[in-house]
Amino acid sequence: MIIILKSKVSKKDEKAVLNEIKRLGYRPHVMHGVARTVIGAIGDETRHPTLEALRAWPQVESVMPVQKRHKLTSREANPENSTVKVRDVVIGGPELIVMAGPCSVESESQLMTTAHAIAKSGARILRGGAFKPRTSPYEFQGLGEKGLKLLAKARRETGLPVITELLSEDHVELVAEYADILQIGARNAQNFQLIIAAAKTGLPILLKRGLSMKIEEWLLAGEYVLAHGNRQVMFCERGIRTFETYTRNTIDLAAVPILKKETHLPVVVDPSQGGGRADLVAAICLGAVAMGADALLIEVHPNPREAWSDGAQQLTPAGFADLMAGLRPVAGAVGRTLRKPDAG
Ligand code: PEP
Ligand code: MN
Repeated sequence: MIIILKSKVSKKDEKAVLNEIKRLGYRPHVMHGVARTVIGAIGDETRHPTLEALRAWPQVESVMPVQKRHKLTSREANPENSTVKVRDVVIGGPELIVMAGPCSVESESQLMTTAHAIAKSGARILRGGAFKPRTSPYEFQGLGEKGLKLLAKARRETGLPVITELLSEDHVELVAEYADILQIGARNAQNFQLIIAAAKTGLPILLKRGLSMKIEEWLLAGEYVLAHGNRQVMFCERGIRTFETYTRNTIDLAAVPILKKETHLPVVVDPSQGGGRADLVAAICLGAVAMGADALLIEVHPNPREAWSDGAQQLTPAGFADLMAGLRPVAGAVGRTLRKPDAG
């Protein structure tokens, strides 16, 4: 910790701070500058009380951690990029990975049509919600286990691994039985007990950014997964709440290079929840890839106008095929490959 004293602090008041630092089990190192005094306190914060209480002392200007609060997720801890492996798919490597599928699994025909279409266009992972976090209790809540079974069937037919949302601790075993990746949604991004339970399954976790979550809080939520023995984590930017109403959420693409700097783990962008508008999806994807995203999570529905959730933001299969064609040169320009259509 770094403790900065206010200017013109008496020797007696400085001594009192030093004594307190020692009393709490740390070694103080004093640096007297021209304008103020800075104290470095060395010690293991997991084994001693925190020094943060010094903030309230009248002679103290500020108390700051030296090290990042996120440790296992940080680049400092692991300078090389980490990858997340799901069956034959590697996220965070040279290939740009596209995950696509409907917001909600609605029926067998809806899911199979979508799964085959996105596989044909070069998607590598199938998304689909079986348990949906809907704002209103009167909106479609998802098919539950029936939806999971359909996802498993689509995986058998297409070979695509499946990502689906884990909404509650009550569903951990059930969802883990069917999913290849567990999605923790924006509304649960700081539900730490759920995150720990998800981590313990050993499955890869895609952690969405919370609706009003700072990047540091998001990194710390991911830290929970690593701290519980699971290193397979991806961070997914999906827009945050702002005053803007042209879009459903304000997508924070600056978070992509920031995360790439702060963490070794893969970064994903969800342009669908991000803008809430199908007409913005392609532009957001191009920007995200140019800014270094490792993967995209895109909503596709055979007939978005008939969708049971998020109709305004889902692409048609044809729209998705166009998007993939448009992505290819941008992916190439930033040194990434993208699976060719019909390569599955
Ligand atoms: C979704 O992916 O359909 C979804 C509900 O996402 P989020 O948690 O980002 O709102
Ligand atoms: Mn959705």
